[in-house]
Amino acid sequence: MHRLYETGESFREVPAWLWSNAIHPDDREQAERDFDHAIATRGAYNSQFRIVLPSGEIRHLRSRAHFYVDAEGSPSFIGAEWDVTADVQLNAELARQKLVAEARALALEESNARIEHVADHDYLTGLSNRRLLDKRLAELPADKSITTLAVLHLDLDQFKQINDSHGHAAGDAVLRAAALRITAAIPANGMVARVGGDEFVIVLVNFTDLTELKLITEDLQRRLRKKIRFGQEMLQSGASIGVSWSGDRRARNLLAESDLALYQAKKLGRNRVEFFTRQLQEDLRAKRRLAEELKLGLERGEIVPYYQVQLDARTREVIGFEALARWKHPEKGVLAPGIFLKIADEHGLAAEIDAAILKNVLQDRLFWLLRGFAVPRIAVNISASRLADPALLNKLRKLDIPPGVIVFELVETIFLDDSDEKLLEHIGDIKQMGIDIEIDDFGSGHASLIGLVKLRPKRLKIDRQLVTEVVSSAEQRRVVGSIVEIAKALDVEVIAEGIETEAHAVVLAQLGCDGLQGYAFGYPAPAAETDRLFASTASGIEKQKTATGG
Ligand code: C2E
Ligand code: MG
Ligand code: MG
Repeated sequence: MHRLYETGESFREVPAWLWSNAIHPDDREQAERDFDHAIATRGAYNSQFRIVLPSGEIRHLRSRAHFYVDAEGSPSFIGAEWDVTADVQLNAELARQKLVAEARALALEESNARIEHVADHDYLTGLSNRRLLDKRLAELPADKSITTLAVLHLDLDQFKQINDSHGHAAGDAVLRAAALRITAAIPANGMVARVGGDEFVIVLVNFTDLTELKLITEDLQRRLRKKIRFGQEMLQSGASIGVSWSGDRRARNLLAESDLALYQAKKLGRNRVEFFTRQLQEDLRAKRRLAEELKLGLERGEIVPYYQVQLDARTREVIGFEALARWKHPEKGVLAPGIFLKIADEHGLAAEIDAAILKNVLQDRLFWLLRGFAVPRIAVNISASRLADPALLNKLRKLDIPPGVIVFELVETIFLDDSDEKLLEHIGDIKQMGIDIEIDDFGSGHASLIGLVKLRPKRLKIDRQLVTEVVSSAEQRRVVGSIVEIAKALDVEVIAEGIETEAHAVVLAQLGCDGLQGYAFGYPAPAAETDRLFASTASGIEKQKTATGG
């Protein structure tokens, strides 16, 4: 076998073995195979291989040749081989660069993914965060594999207390445990996100029916009620859950609806599951409307005081009035606080109501004084939010309230919830202004003797519920008697409220109450109807006694 080898100057014949030997051992087999194939097919010869020069240097050759039969009739190839080392090196370099670029792109993608992960996840629990949740919820409607869809809003009970009494590390431990438990309780195709301090949102898809959904919520509650070990301590939380679900994949309002259901669950007590209903939505809408109306009503001066008289238990003289808020609603008539006070509180309007009442009371008082009436002290009710307002003192100072004419009634619970120093200081300043403090509804909740001692109110008002049974129950009489005794020991006066009959009045006077208030002596009435209870002189008060009794 012969082979043409291009030397650059002339052609000469080269024996096949010499050619083969020059080829890099790794390429030899392939090169020979290419050659044999060309002979067998009598076709074109096409190959590329490395050769090793005597110096040891490696060069890349490309070879092209054609089969032909020469004049003597012997088969032969004619063609050329040329050095493509530079090309090969260039290609190799390009390939290397491409690899480097690809690796770089991959690294970039990875770090992007890491950044995305951080942006989409909660650092503490590793769960998805609000951002990712919103993304997922937005994708759901396009996912045709979804047949049913539910959104659960979950809030840990007692979380604030745990945080406050055991510290943030304990709070963190509770959150991490909750995240693990929730993840364990929901099916793999579900999703859970931490969307706020102790608030989680769970998205469930393709459950069979409501029964399955309920089983999942029960399981969630059961797991979250289990105690959590934190150092030496065992912490216990729990969960309130609001659920909204749909028989298809449209998630439009599920998030907001489950939030409403959660709100309801928490309102009805803790550790509950509430499902969203149209009725719930209607109620909430109505409430929101009422809050809007109330805001307007406040601006329009529709919130006015009604006055209920308070009498001396022994002499039955008028000793004061309690101003009770009424809403002169343009369509619904006169509304009692039961209808609007809670909503006011929920919408941050309670303090404004208190302020409106006080302003009106001062105006009414001035009006009565101008007409020559002897106006006794007037008690106004103060909500917790008003009392907590750091600007309250300044607001009160601007009103130029003469000492001794206004009394503030504070409900007992205010002091139990926060008997903090700030609040006590605030109350001290109010007293300094000549505004007496009374504890309202005393004995209705958790009787707080400590609050009584700390606060040193001028008076306490025994709650109506305790008063009601004094006539029929000896035990209740003893309870009220003890309250009176303690109050006396602390130099605190006592008013009994909710006196509906003369018999009650008599018993409570006997038990040592100083003042009496209730329907027996008068219903809360508008300012214009209150005039008749005033006296312009001392003898007038005598006359009043008989006019208001019974
Ligand atoms: P409260 O301060 O304990 O007022 C006494 C409530 O008992 C009043 O209800 C009064 O109308 C009612 N009442 C008086 N005598 C009797 C009686 O003999 N029998 C019965 N069954 N009830 C009697 P009202 O006016 O509906 O007020 C309810 C509560 O709303 C008040 O309880 C007070 O806590 C709150 N409130 C009223 N006005 C204001 C206000 O201007 N600001 C704030 N923050 N709360 C207010
Ligand atoms: Mg009151
Ligand atoms: Mg009361």
